[in-house]
Amino acid sequence: KVRVRFAPSPTGPLHIGGVRTALYNYIFARQNGGDMILRIEDTDSRRFVPGAEEYINDALHWLGISFDEGVREGGVFGPYKQSERREIYKEHVDMLLANGKAYIAFDSPEELEKARQDIPNFQYDAHTRGSMRNSLTMPKEEVDRLIADGAQYVVRFKVEPDRDVVVDDLIRGKVTINSNILDDKVLYKSADNLPTYHLANIVDDHLMEVSHVIRGEEWLPSAPLHVLLYEAFGWTDTMPQFVHLPLLLKPVGNGKLSKRDGDKLGFPVFLLEWKDPVTGEISSGYREKGYLPEAVVNFLALLGWNPGDDSEMMSMDDLIRKFSFAHCSKSGAKFDYKKGIWFNHEYLGKADDAVLAQLFQPVLVENGITDADPAYVAKAIGMVKGRADLIDDLWTQGDFFFRAPETYAEKDVKKRWSEDTPRIMEELIGLLEGIDDMTSANAEKIVLGWIADKGYHLGNVMNAFRLAVVGACRGPHMFDITELMPKEEVIARIRRAIH
Ligand code: GLU
Repeated sequence: KVRVRFAPSPTGPLHIGGVRTALYNYIFARQNGGDMILRIEDTDSRRFVPGAEEYINDALHWLGISFDEGVREGGVFGPYKQSERREIYKEHVDMLLANGKAYIAFDSPEELEKARQDIPNFQYDAHTRGSMRNSLTMPKEEVDRLIADGAQYVVRFKVEPDRDVVVDDLIRGKVTINSNILDDKVLYKSADNLPTYHLANIVDDHLMEVSHVIRGEEWLPSAPLHVLLYEAFGWTDTMPQFVHLPLLLKPVGNGKLSKRDGDKLGFPVFLLEWKDPVTGEISSGYREKGYLPEAVVNFLALLGWNPGDDSEMMSMDDLIRKFSFAHCSKSGAKFDYKKGIWFNHEYLGKADDAVLAQLFQPVLVENGITDADPAYVAKAIGMVKGRADLIDDLWTQGDFFFRAPETYAEKDVKKRWSEDTPRIMEELIGLLEGIDDMTSANAEKIVLGWIADKGYHLGNVMNAFRLAVVGACRGPHMFDITELMPKEEVIARIRRAIH
């Protein structure tokens, strides 16, 4: 059975690269009728950030990613938070110590620093461990005595030298690495009785019966060590399939995408707004910037994967149908945030008016509009949504539906407002007052008929009308606007423009 996990460390808000990893895991799980697990990897207490775990849950929930098992959902393979699994790791470290795959090392930070200075390119491994203070070089009695005395130690993995380790990766194929470049990684620390990432990760993937480890490329260098750990435990038969996803790259220049790129170019790298608990600094998220989750999903899915044809607009269901690692690229994907805006524009244009009206509510409140009728808001938005990239743009495009213009666009006034205009607008008021049925087609027929009868200039009259109601020569079809707006308001605005 396909079982995948997303395994973030709660060290801060989830970065957009991590979101993409979670998304691919989710899509793959759903495509295969598998399980999606959220595991919190919090064994590094120094990097723990309060609120990060809740944030990760909330952010992924907003995007439409749900978990079958996890810290919130529970499940039979729990607990899903590593800090609650100490006993399990201790047992497993003891297994490795007992079968000689790991050893205890007492070297202090100072001793390690000295070794680094004395030996060029020092790494703790088969070639150097003989000269260090560990259970391979010290008599057993001394080791036992030190431990009994409460000396601090770590448990290191005993990497066998000069072995070709093969990592089988669904995107990259077989990657072979010689074990000589690996060091004897620390698996466990007596100081806090906690495992390191590597040990906890392997033990949990095994016990949670994870079938596919899908994660970012930055973990590829750790994969050979992980393969060796599976061997050391005797778990090779059930070792998960590895999949290392291509990095997300800067939109301009070279290198990995960072938060600073977002700050500089004005796009978010987090899904939801995040307030740093230490500095108090607030970083905006895709949600607050006015993106729709569907657009973010579509945009992210295409960073590192392509459907093999030219389809672009894809819902989560489409993605679940089409996704395949065979179409994932090995090389990094440039984070083309402008494409993200384009997707949002497309999704806004298609979104349900009532849903948009809800999302628009905070923007209205920000602008002092607190009593708008939801049905009116939905209709107004429906007329301008095709011109918006982000939710905020709905205000820029449709503000006049909610408040009368205070100024009139100078350029348009110059072009469309002449000496005759007030008199003609006065006539228009009279005409409008007499119209009972203000539906778009009917009002249009009557007003255009009047313009033609009088021999007025169609463009000038209609644009003056628009100027008075909207404040500028922009916006949707004039008679759609006047169908929605109360007639008294339309007339009041024309009056105000004349006087
Ligand atoms: N805790 C690791 C992280 O923060 C998990 C890496 C993995 O998926 O193995 O990304």
